[in-house]
Parts: sequence; C-alpha cells; structure tokens
Amino acid sequence: MPFYLKIPGLDIEKIPQGIRTFVFHKFFRAGMAKRGSPEPHRSSGILRLQRWIQSVSNNRPRDQAFLIFTIDVDTSYTFRRHGEPIRRMLEERGCRAAWYFLTGKYPVESSFLDSLQRSGHEIGWHGHKHDHRLGFLARAERRAQLEQARAFFERYDVAGMRAPHFLWTRALHEDVSPLLAYDTSFHDAYPFSEEGIGCATSLPFRMPCGLWQIPITITSDHFFPPSSSISERLNWMRAQLDAQIDLGGVVHLVLHPEPSITLKPRNLELLRLFLNYVDERRGELMHCLPRELVEHSRRAEQRETC
Ligand SMILES: [Zn+2]
Repeated sequence: MPFYLKIPGLDIEKIPQGIRTFVFHKFFRAGMAKRGSPEPHRSSGILRLQRWIQSVSNNRPRDQAFLIFTIDVDTSYTFRRHGEPIRRMLEERGCRAAWYFLTGKYPVESSFLDSLQRSGHEIGWHGHKHDHRLGFLARAERRAQLEQARAFFERYDVAGMRAPHFLWTRALHEDVSPLLAYDTSFHDAYPFSEEGIGCATSLPFRMPCGLWQIPITITSDHFFPPSSSISERLNWMRAQLDAQIDLGGVVHLVLHPEPSITLKPRNLELLRLFLNYVDERRGELMHCLPRELVEHSRRAEQRETC
C-alpha cells in the first residue's frame, strides 16, 4: 500500500493534480528516468524476457499486432465536453476505446455513455471512488462498493476495469473476477524503469482468479518527465509501438480526458502525432476493443488446450 494511504484523513483527490504530478516527478521518478540507453523505452532485461515469453506463447496474433485504447474518466469534466476532443480524434481515424467510469464519485450521465456505445465504444469500470483505496479496503467494504456498481455493470454490459492509479491487489482481482472478464492495471514494463518492474509481457493473460489481464504497453502522457520535449516523447512512443509490432503484441495506450492530463495542449498535440504514426503502420495493427481482445485470447487459449 502506498505510504500516503496510511495518513489518517488524507484524501488524495483533494490535492491538486499539478502538485501531485510535481511530487511524483520530483521524488519518486528522480532515480528512474535514465536517459541515453539504446533502448530508453524499456529496460533491456525485461525486453528480452518479453521477447522470450511471446516467442513461446500460443496466445498471440500470428500476423498482426493488436491496437487498443483505454480511457480513465477520473472526474465529471468529460461529461460537459461529451468526450471531446479525444473522442473526435479517435473516431476520425475509425478508432474506438474502452471508457472506464467511476460509480461513486460523480453522477454517470447516461446520454453520454449511450452515445459512446452507439458509436462502438466500450464502457468499463474505474472503481467506485478515486481515492486509490479500492485494492486495500476490507473485503466487506469493497464488495459493498461492487454491489453498488452492479446496476452500472448490467446497464452497460461492463466487461473490464482499471484500478484507480493502477493500484491493484490480488484481493481486488479475486473480488472482481465473478463480475468482470478483465483488468487493465498492469504495465508490461513500468515506464522508464531500468529495474525491470512490470509483468514482462504485452500479451493478455489469464490470472489465477480467472480474470484476464491486458497490460499497458505505451507510456502514458502523465508519466513523461515535464522537461521532455514533444519530439522526445513521440520518439519514445513510436519505439514502443514498433516493438509491439515486432513482437506480435498489443499496442495499448491509456488516456485521461482531464484538463490537467491528456487535454493539456501539448499532450493533445502528442496524441495527434502519435495517432498519425499509428495511421502509418495501421496495416500491421488489428484495432479492436479490449473486450474483443479478451475474446480472441480466450479462443486462442481454448485452441491451445484442445
Ligand atoms: Zn484514474
């Protein structure tokens, strides 16, 4: 559990995003952003492990890598904008995303969610509140939150989730597994880490509790050092996309439709440039929704065990 969750009465959401980002980069990322490596997007050890896992796995697209987008709706801001401009940028290119909503923080505006579904997007769960505690609650309390979310799951045919702030626990996965099909809280390699933190595969895999995991493989905008230029960030992301195509893996980008994150002008520009690059390599990528990727993986697993 992160240390700040042990501070009595601290509500992490009440600390402005700008201050949280500053503290994160100043104190937690200081030793992690090692520049100048020939593979700056990955530690070489975890990349080697990833190559090996994907070479022996049957659960992979043989000819094409996959492309998915997932979006965390942390505040009600996006309802006022109806998902613009991220939604427009994706739809203009014929792309769809899974949008993960909170069920205990803001009123979920059904007209917006209905319109997303009509446009072919997927609706998913981002937890109840966004206090980072979901994975660490007592079982009874978490199950009560899941019970409150049940109507949302049924109404929008929810199959997947991401834990707030990627703070998953085994207990969370066990509690969620009877209700949902997949989670997206893992990274294949934690951004910028030379220590090789991550699950070391970009392929979806089934966890012991039965829930599928779809790892994140492209560095999210909010993880980049504030001092990095747009071209540095773009080069980083392009290298990650190229690696997934080489591996026959999954290009998985996470977005946050918040003014302090992806809607910052320079992050929108980065997204536009990255999507242009996606277009260039689109013929080598099979675009789908995360729930469709899980279905593909399930079928691959069944073929393997037949
Ligand atoms: Zn979030």
